[in-house]
Amino acid sequence: MLTVKKFGGSSVATAEKITAIAERVLREKQADEQIVMVVSAMGDTTDELIELAKGIDQDPYRFAREMDMLLTTGEQVTIALLAMAFKKLGQDAISLTGRMAGIATDDVYTKGRILDITPRRVHEELDSGKIVIVAGFQGADAAGNPVTLGRGGSDTSAVALAGALKADSCEIFTDVEGVFSADPRIAKGARKMQEITYNEMLEMARLGAGVMQPRSVEMGQLYGIPIHVRSTFSQNRGTVIREDYTMEEKSFVIRGVAHDEKVAKIAVLGVQNTPGVAHKIFAALADANVDVDMIVQSIRNIEKNVTDMVFTVAIGDLNQAKAVVDKVAEELDAVAVLIEEDVAKVSIVGAGMLGNPGIAARMFGALAKAGINIDIISTSEISVSCLIKSSEIKDAVNAVHNEFFPA
Ligand code: ADP
Ligand code: ASP
Ligand code: MG
Repeated sequence: MLTVKKFGGSSVATAEKITAIAERVLREKQADEQIVMVVSAMGDTTDELIELAKGIDQDPYRFAREMDMLLTTGEQVTIALLAMAFKKLGQDAISLTGRMAGIATDDVYTKGRILDITPRRVHEELDSGKIVIVAGFQGADAAGNPVTLGRGGSDTSAVALAGALKADSCEIFTDVEGVFSADPRIAKGARKMQEITYNEMLEMARLGAGVMQPRSVEMGQLYGIPIHVRSTFSQNRGTVIREDYTMEEKSFVIRGVAHDEKVAKIAVLGVQNTPGVAHKIFAALADANVDVDMIVQSIRNIEKNVTDMVFTVAIGDLNQAKAVVDKVAEELDAVAVLIEEDVAKVSIVGAGMLGNPGIAARMFGALAKAGINIDIISTSEISVSCLIKSSEIKDAVNAVHNEFFPA
């Protein structure tokens, strides 16, 4: 039996916590079990490393390769310490960087994608009786440069390794008891789910539910691996992410409420209402690897034949997006480019809302009753999102959550 167990940053924040994890894993280890562990950087290390880089340059991400050289050190500290903790307890173990574990990525530094995993070394070490500890959040490009997988990327390392190793289980240990109907730190009555489908979890994650990196959920679906999200600090069963529901919970219309405070709004005002304008703006952003989210083109001003193009991007991409958009706006002779950072997005997610228009209306009603103004609305087949003021996000999450999950 081969299992993959991933422990996130707060679970490995101190030497004591690392030792406690080694003890737990050994206590629960089955006789025939081969274990691969994936760990994140300790506590807030990744944030601290980013701050350190900002001491050199306020936008260090423009030196993306060097950012990855820096950020990958965080996970390397944890793997070494955890391997030592096992050895001290009498269990042989070995730490491997992403590259040593055979994780090959593209060369899109700081946002890398895993292209392939050749886990020969991992198998060899497992077969010699060791627990193998792999650094999360990292791989290497064809030239051997370290590449990180985007914030929260250790989830993706774990699920991808589970797929490549054909693991029997993949557990994501974190600081909450599982996936909840909304962020349990924000929504008062948030409920733990027994199960959630890949599709719904992917949508929740894309819309800001940081408990799983979106790409890790895609990986799970691709490889058909059920992902068990559970607590580092308790023995309780958490939430299983899988293709279909096997339990009662499928009767929910809305599966959960997600929110994202790390968004910014960009408005390109007064561009000509002619073919090719949207293409020009969004192709330039795509070339710079900037993901665009909500997009609205305003109604044309008939006299001037101009429109406004408004969209949102992740706050982490704002500097890059602004540079790209400023350039294109000049070429398009746009009137102005406006940036708003004090925005946030609240969303409802659920496959049950397909063909159920009353659901969106209920969401808008809940926000209205809480006195919250909606700036932009966007929808997918299984979600509705509203852009609002960031200062109102907590109230918005609670208002919408109460509407669909009354106490
Ligand atoms: P780790 O360091 O273990 O990867 P993260 O901080 O990345 O942990 O993810 C866990 C956090 O995700 C929780 O502390 C919680 O605040 C947040 N979160 C957001 N939405 C949800 C949700 N729907 N269910 C559970 N946790 C959520
Ligand atoms: N340490 C990385 C981050 O903070 C990766 C992870 O924790 O998953 O984003
Ligand atoms: Mg995480």
